[in-house]
Amino acid sequence: METIPSFTVDHLKLKSGLFVARKDRIGDAVVTTFDLRLKRPYHDPVMDTGSVHALEHICATYLRNDPLWGERVIYFGPMGCRTGFYLIMAGDLTSEDVLPLVERTFDFASDFEGEIPGATPKECGFCVDMDLELAKADAAMYYNILISPKKENLHYPVKKPRKPKLSKEEQNKGGEDD
Ligand SMILES: [Zn+2]
Repeated sequence: METIPSFTVDHLKLKSGLFVARKDRIGDAVVTTFDLRLKRPYHDPVMDTGSVHALEHICATYLRNDPLWGERVIYFGPMGCRTGFYLIMAGDLTSEDVLPLVERTFDFASDFEGEIPGATPKECGFCVDMDLELAKADAAMYYNILISPKKENLHYPVKKPRKPKLSKEEQNKGGEDD
C-alpha cells in the first residue's frame, strides 16, 4: 500500500479532479481519503459558502444511500479553502474505483430539486447559509470534468524524489547499504 500525503502536492500545479489524498491503516483495515477538487487552486474562484454547504448536505446524503458503496462511506465534508471536498471510504481504493460513484453523486446534485436534506435548524448548525442554484452549477461543472477525465484529473502531480548523486569519495566507500 502506498501512502500519498496530500501536503507534498504542489497546489499551484494541481488541476480539478478526483485524487487519492492519503491511505491510512486502522488495525487491519485500510481507509482511503479522496480529494474531490472542484476548483483549480489559484486559477478558479473558490466556491461560495452557500454552495459548499448545500453540496455537503446533498452529496453526503446521496453517498450514504448509494446501494453499492453507501456502507463504505465514512465521511464526506468540505475543505476549509472551499476548493473541494474530502471523501473518506473504507478500503484500499483508487480514484478509478470510485469515479462512477462520485460521477453519479454530482450528476444527482446538479439536477437536485426540492428540500435540501437536513436543512433545518434542528438538524444543522447554520441552515440559512445554503445556495442551491450555485451548488447545482458547481456540481455540473465538476461532473463535466469527471465524465472525461485525463490522467491529470485522477492523479496528483507528484514528483518522484531524485536520488542524490554520490560524490567520488562516497562512491569509493561503496556497498554500505542500511
Ligand atoms: Zn449543515
